[in-house]
Amino acid sequence: MPSTALSPIIAGLWRAHTWGLDVPARVRWIEQALGLGITSFDHADIYGGYSVEAWFGEALAAAPGLRERLQIVTKCGIRLVHPARSGHAIKSYDSSRAHLLASVDNSLRALRTDRIDLLLLHRPDLLMDPDAVADTFRTLQAAGKVLAFGVSNHQPPQLAMLHRRHALVTNQIECSPLQMQALADGTLDQCTDLGLRPMLWSPLGGGRLFSGQDAQAQRVRAVLEALGRQHGASVATVAYAWLLRHPSRPRPITGSGRTDALREAVAALEVPLSAEDWYRVWQASMGHEVA
Ligand code: NAP
Repeated sequence: MPSTALSPIIAGLWRAHTWGLDVPARVRWIEQALGLGITSFDHADIYGGYSVEAWFGEALAAAPGLRERLQIVTKCGIRLVHPARSGHAIKSYDSSRAHLLASVDNSLRALRTDRIDLLLLHRPDLLMDPDAVADTFRTLQAAGKVLAFGVSNHQPPQLAMLHRRHALVTNQIECSPLQMQALADGTLDQCTDLGLRPMLWSPLGGGRLFSGQDAQAQRVRAVLEALGRQHGASVATVAYAWLLRHPSRPRPITGSGRTDALREAVAALEVPLSAEDWYRVWQASMGHEVA
């Protein structure tokens, strides 16, 4: 799968089990996202305690024409202690062949689909054997079960080690005006260098951008509000525009079940921030000007 096949804004499903949507409402929500140009949907096997993939799969089963119009991203590699997985004694990471193959089969069943467009290793497994993982990726690709692969929350050397053995298309990482570590530790530089467009999670700081009362959140909110007035855009839209301004060409992942929130994200594609606007937000987040 060329990474360009994903939409510029991606809808995240982590919180979907809290949205209170029945199956017809889920179909409507997916239709509304597609109508806004959001065609990619971000899952993980563990979301909702191993329940959200099935939540989505029920909607796909109710409206079979949807599947061909969207891309499914899901993740594997975390073992939660949960009644749905009685064999897990402690929370741990697992990138073994047996775990990845079983996890993909479970995801395909739950999502009611024959293929996953993009599979990510959710967290870096400290015991990962990169040759074995690359071999497992080849098996999954040859079976047509997974079209492309990536990682999430991986440090640059961890990504490089795997990318040398099997082509990856992304690193899905946390980034927002309140969490900028990826700008400083080489993670986004590596994405730019390799042409792997990153996916950005918690782009609004998980909501802290709006509700946070700490000094950093207040400083950042004030700057985003000022830029919003200047550009005729909401705080959320300016936050997305700030993320989109990076040369790695990131794809932010929304976290809301509200269609208005999806609309605010998409609106950012039309808000060009200057480099000075961008540094204003950086300075507010860091609490000091650049050196
Ligand atoms: P987020 O957009 O930073 O936070 C969403 C939260 O902010 C929601 O609770 C939302 O509430 C709230 N919010 C308040 N005002 C809002 C406004 N004006 N616009 C939008 N949201 C507003 O994203 P996130 O949910 O933390 O993460 C997004 C996605 O990233 C997840 O769904 C998941 O797919 C992915 N993710 C990946 C990882 C990983 O390790 N790879 C980790 C975490 C998340 P409302 O619902 O009321 O709008």
